[in-house]
Amino acid sequence: MLALQGAFREHVHALGRLGADAVEVRVPADLEGLDALVLPGGESTAMDLLLDSSGLRAPLADRIGAGLPVLGTCAGLILLATDLEDGVEGQRTFAALDVTALRNGYGRQVRSFEADLAVAGEEAPMRGVFIRAPRITRTGPDVEVLAELDGEPVCVRSGPIMAATFHPELTGDDRLHARFLAGLPA
Ligand code: GLN
Repeated sequence: MLALQGAFREHVHALGRLGADAVEVRVPADLEGLDALVLPGGESTAMDLLLDSSGLRAPLADRIGAGLPVLGTCAGLILLATDLEDGVEGQRTFAALDVTALRNGYGRQVRSFEADLAVAGEEAPMRGVFIRAPRITRTGPDVEVLAELDGEPVCVRSGPIMAATFHPELTGDDRLHARFLAGLPA
């Protein structure tokens, strides 16, 4: 669990409810022995700076590039996107998920809202909490869309990467985390 900034505690609780042993990652040594990583929501520009000051950027980029499974939510999705629109100048990403993410894509008027989402493979709708969420304005050919809102992807998967523009850790509905954990290599 990347724990530099943002809503990481809620993810740790969700992972704990599912029996996963979540380790909070703040320095490079914390990466040892990780089987998977969660990148939380929060503020991607702050995380961008903290990735440098913590020394985590290069070792994390190496692990993600080597196929470490990653779940990214909201700002975490921004950190994974190959292309970023409306980032701050110089803002970088791990470029591991072939999508274009538009930061704060719902604008100032509708900054935060909730919606029921039909997620592929789930019978009951999932409540999506969107907080100054990014929009996914392009998906690459290898990106599978798991949920849409108004015809736009809000939850996607590509190889070992899963990402959502909303906050699944804030609702107590752990199905998305369970899906991510179920997809990890044994
Ligand atoms: N707007 C935030 C950003 O740019 C993301 C918001 C969130 O993670 N809830 O990082």
